[in-house]
Amino acid sequence: MTADTPAYDPGNIFAKILRGEIPAQTVYEDADTLAFMDVMPQGEGHTLVIPKAPARGLLDADPASLAAVTATLQRVGRAVKAAFDADGLTVFQYNEPAGGQTVFHLHFHIVPRREGVPLKRHEGGMADPEVLAKHAARIRAALEA
Ligand code: 5GP
Repeated sequence: MTADTPAYDPGNIFAKILRGEIPAQTVYEDADTLAFMDVMPQGEGHTLVIPKAPARGLLDADPASLAAVTATLQRVGRAVKAAFDADGLTVFQYNEPAGGQTVFHLHFHIVPRREGVPLKRHEGGMADPEVLAKHAARIRAALEA
């Protein structure tokens, strides 16, 4: 917690994923980070990257944890771009409700982009779990290529 950041709440949904209390379609994991599919994707292949260390957002995260997340963002971003034959990637991150954040464990979004195809709205519906599983498998395969 910093002067301008509320305390971390370990009851958040991503902390539950990290503890294995709820499932996620994982694409990559190392000692410091986890990457998994977003259940309400704003585009095919929408992936989230989080640090394992508790942090509510960018402002209270440990710099070493941020460095690890950045390395994973690049590694997984390359694989997402390849897996979905994307023309580009959009990477974004929100802080606090006013900034658009809804889950209060630091996370970065990666969305593969095609020329002329707009991002879907954030409030889009839940994706078919079987489709998400297939997309996760494509990204894992690209990571191993
Ligand atoms: P935020 O607005 O906080 O940056 O975005 C949180 C993201 O987490 C949203 O894109 C939302 O779809 C995703 N999300 C919310 N609940 C779950 C969940 O239980 N599992 C997964 N994999 N993603 C979730």
